[in-house]
Amino acid sequence: MFDVESIRKDFPILDKQVYGKPLVYLDNAATTQKPRQVIDSISDCYLNTNANVHRGLHFLSEEATRQMENARETVRRFIGAGSTQEIIFTRGTTESLNLLAHSFTRAFIKPGDEVIVSCMEHHSNIVPWQLEAQKSGLALKVIPMDDRGNLDMEAFEGMLSDRTRLVSVTHVSNVLGTVNPIRDIVRIAHAHGVPVAVDGAQSVPHTGIDVQALDVDFLAFSGHKIYGPTGVGVLYGRKSLLEQMPPYQGGGEMIGRVSFEKTTYNELPYKFEAGTPDYVGVIALASALDYVTGIGIDAIAEYEHSLLDYAVERLSAIDGLRFIGTPAVRSGVVSFLVKDIFPSDMGTLLDHLGIAVRTGHHCAQPLMDRLGIPGTVRASVSFYNTRQEIDALAAGIERVAGMF
Ligand code: PLP
Repeated sequence: MFDVESIRKDFPILDKQVYGKPLVYLDNAATTQKPRQVIDSISDCYLNTNANVHRGLHFLSEEATRQMENARETVRRFIGAGSTQEIIFTRGTTESLNLLAHSFTRAFIKPGDEVIVSCMEHHSNIVPWQLEAQKSGLALKVIPMDDRGNLDMEAFEGMLSDRTRLVSVTHVSNVLGTVNPIRDIVRIAHAHGVPVAVDGAQSVPHTGIDVQALDVDFLAFSGHKIYGPTGVGVLYGRKSLLEQMPPYQGGGEMIGRVSFEKTTYNELPYKFEAGTPDYVGVIALASALDYVTGIGIDAIAEYEHSLLDYAVERLSAIDGLRFIGTPAVRSGVVSFLVKDIFPSDMGTLLDHLGIAVRTGHHCAQPLMDRLGIPGTVRASVSFYNTRQEIDALAAGIERVAGMF
């Protein structure tokens, strides 16, 4: 039995009232709430071990460094990586993907080479490649999808050529909830000798991922979407590829030896970690991963899946509601429109009932263009949500729809 009531006690913010109504927080794809364990970890760092990492010989610096490197090991275990040298701390998924685009392009891309993304990418997995394309002459190719929101795998297979250098796709769509068949994508890409990068922002918190079992070459995710603090994230990269890639930013721990004539770089993963890292955030991220591991990612996936099924069932019964995305395998989110009500009107009126959802293009404008709509209303669940909250959402949508 999944004891959601006892889990909710770990998240103080869930007891909040907004506009005099109990908070129903269904914006977890944007960011998750934090358990007391994570909040305590942050204050504990500042109360007891704060000192800059790596360069100090004194007690506190060594303790902070030890905790940060332990956190790297926690991340390694959580995603099934082979070595902590493959775990790079960043500010989040966006920075991870910018680092990847910048360094991968410099190492491996020549004019006319191609990178394949999908039509359901977040802007964070589109714009960094476009920025690099301006400088390197790389071409972006886009995997299409069917009207339900499933990637067209046949089209994908046909796109790979001897110019393809990388496939970079989202594991779970933050708009449609589609769980993309990463195993098949990797199998097909690797058969052509092409590495695969996965945007795990929406999958790592909800289904987990094992980078070695899936054989992915890069993985990006954000701490704040997995119950950790804002401002910290991870880029996993296969060591043999990272070793060939140049640094992304300069300064701090990324150097080997600096002179005005020539600078050499540190070993992995420090080569990619310029400047003072957010060591407090990194340590708190490890607390969040420990928390998730304590509940169990499989139990989380199962519970959230049943909650989403329930949401789909309840929302299906609402007159005039249509789902945006009915993928074969879904995780985390459900997007919809009701009659011709603007998503922002729906979102604002739900907010006044205490229900937090997200509306708009969800940083996926090319996907909105593909769907021919300007935006959606999106409810996104976590393991701390309940069926009663889904009932409140359904009742709220009906009430708002009745006003129009
Ligand atoms: N990729 C996906 C699929 C996302 O859902 C998000 C955030 O919503 C991002 C990337 C960007 O994450 P962040 O803003 O934490 O860098």
